[in-house]
Amino acid sequence: MYDRLLKILLASMLALLLVACDKPQPPAAQATPVTQNFTLKLAETWGPNYPIFGDTTRQLAATVEQMSGGRLRITIDSANKHKAPFGVFDMVKAGQYDMGHSASYYWKGKDPDTLYFTNMPFSMTAPEQLAWFYHGGGLQLMEKVYARHGLLSFPGGNTGGQMGGWFRKEINSVEDLQGLKMRIPGFAGEVLARLGAKPTNIPPGELYTALERNTIDALEWVGPSLDLRMGFHKIAPYYYTGWHEPSAELQFLINRQSWERLPPDLQEILRVAMRAAAADMYTLAYHKNAVNWATMQQEFPDIQIRTFPKPVLAALKKANDELLAEFAAADPLAREIIDSQADYLARARAWTAISDQAYLNSMRDLQD
Ligand code: CA
Repeated sequence: MYDRLLKILLASMLALLLVACDKPQPPAAQATPVTQNFTLKLAETWGPNYPIFGDTTRQLAATVEQMSGGRLRITIDSANKHKAPFGVFDMVKAGQYDMGHSASYYWKGKDPDTLYFTNMPFSMTAPEQLAWFYHGGGLQLMEKVYARHGLLSFPGGNTGGQMGGWFRKEINSVEDLQGLKMRIPGFAGEVLARLGAKPTNIPPGELYTALERNTIDALEWVGPSLDLRMGFHKIAPYYYTGWHEPSAELQFLINRQSWERLPPDLQEILRVAMRAAAADMYTLAYHKNAVNWATMQQEFPDIQIRTFPKPVLAALKKANDELLAEFAAADPLAREIIDSQADYLARARAWTAISDQAYLNSMRDLQD
């Protein structure tokens, strides 16, 4: 009985084996479907549900999840959660977070060469800067700086040209900058310090209180897109046009080990989704600026629009040029970045002058 059963069993196994051998075997890669899921933790400098900047991180998270069929997820912690708006660089570097959304020039205390990748005073407009990043060697230079820290940095959305900030008192001369306590980060802060001002950086969530309590005399944040809701116009009526941030690109920071753990297809999904989110932020910021500028003009006629007098701008420009020369002399990589930006600005601006600028000038002349 058992013998018979064993024979039948052996015969069936042999038959199965022969059938199996007959069939062409699928390649090994297809035999093991990719089922591993990844979650990246992102810390943002901004508060919860922050407009425009927060829209960008939420869009990124939604896009990567959809594109990857749920294999890649991004969870977002805002400043109220991690309590360290200016700790994003350190937290991502340490691997406490896989990603960050912030601004490169906040990290000048960590590495002075990070200064150049948000914006530079008197430098490129948003289209010029974006062209520099993607076609003028900007991304490669940024990669070089952040590689020193085990980090990757990608463009994270542009605010467009920024307003020069909110002042309690008018600035009529260079002397008026003496002792002026102003929230202004980045290279522009260095420039103002050279002219006797006292620049400082304050997280967005504390700006209004700092201005209201006279911790600072003036501040710059972004432009109508984000300034209106902050209420600065209630305590500082003079709203100056810009010189310091003719463009400002935020950044996505990524811990290199977190990046390298991702399979190539998820890396590409993340790369493309970051680029889309950054591009969409620029158009959203432009739109919100236009909408809120109209609101400011209609509903807040007490806002006094000013432009810095020419001697003040000339002094700022002179200080800016001197500082650039000093920073370039002190650090070979800084020189490489500064030279790259100067060369690119010269080429791009020649085109801007004969295209956008010429068009806008002739439209203005038509109205005169
Ligand atoms: Ca700003």
